[in-house]
Amino acid sequence: MSKVALVTGGSRGIGRAIALALAEKGWSVAVNYRSGAQAAEETVQAIRSAGGTARAIQADISLAEDRKRLVQETLTAFGRIDLLVNNAGMAPRVRADLLEMGEESYDEVLATNLKGPFFLTQMVARQMIERPTRSDGAPAMIVNIGSTSATTSSTSRGEYCLSKAGMGMMTALFADRLAAHGILVYEVRPGIIETDMTAVVQEKYDRMIEGGLLPLSRWGKAEDVARAVVAIAEGALPYSTGEIIHVDGGFHLRRL
Ligand code: NAP
Repeated sequence: MSKVALVTGGSRGIGRAIALALAEKGWSVAVNYRSGAQAAEETVQAIRSAGGTARAIQADISLAEDRKRLVQETLTAFGRIDLLVNNAGMAPRVRADLLEMGEESYDEVLATNLKGPFFLTQMVARQMIERPTRSDGAPAMIVNIGSTSATTSSTSRGEYCLSKAGMGMMTALFADRLAAHGILVYEVRPGIIETDMTAVVQEKYDRMIEGGLLPLSRWGKAEDVARAVVAIAEGALPYSTGEIIHVDGGFHLRRL
């Protein structure tokens, strides 16, 4: 029986790269998306034409009913979940100064980036506890896609920073709670990655990178993040849990 991964927001960007890279290693992948059915179908077709197994599942992870259906449909399709990748996330629809940010945006971003992943993880963890070991003997795992924004202030998207800081503690909490069951929890923390999410600030970030912002002076690619997730999923860190892997060209380093 193959290994089964549920990748939230697997239709585009970083999530798509993760879904494709896992499928290449033989994982069956549930490709979740919110509203972009065509992109999700393209990801699924790309996996299938390379000989892999995947299925697109629509669900808004900020909604409790959708999360429940997402888990049920994944289990119906594949029978188990060995790896949950909490990748789906959103930037604020409007970049508003911290003193102007509205409660509506705060609620939406926190519900999508923190509350949704938290309660989805709770639900999947209960399933994993029933089957904490994969068919190849490796442990079940959860990988959260955090962000450098967990520790980097951006005053024009404070709600995003708060959501990712919260995810950092979410990683620690589930790592602690699930260790006794042999389930491993990690966070992959990307820096500036070239996707639809960062397209709106491309020129600004181009200038900042050219000006020396990053030790490794280039934009990150979705595939850079996917490589870290696959390394974890394939068992590269068996005696680590709660670990944060930075995929940010060294941006998190303090420099003088
Ligand atoms: P993206 O290109 O905008 O793709 C977002 C993905 O998440 C899409 O598949 C989208 O599906 C899905 N999604 C959004 N809201 C959802 C919801 N409520 N329910 C289910 N799916 C939802 O974003 P990305 O750049 O790949 O980012 C992926 C993750 O990496 C996010 O958690 C983001 O915060 C994090 N990250 C990104 C960067 C970066 O520089 N790009 C840096 C650090 C961290 P639909 O298309 O159907 O809406």
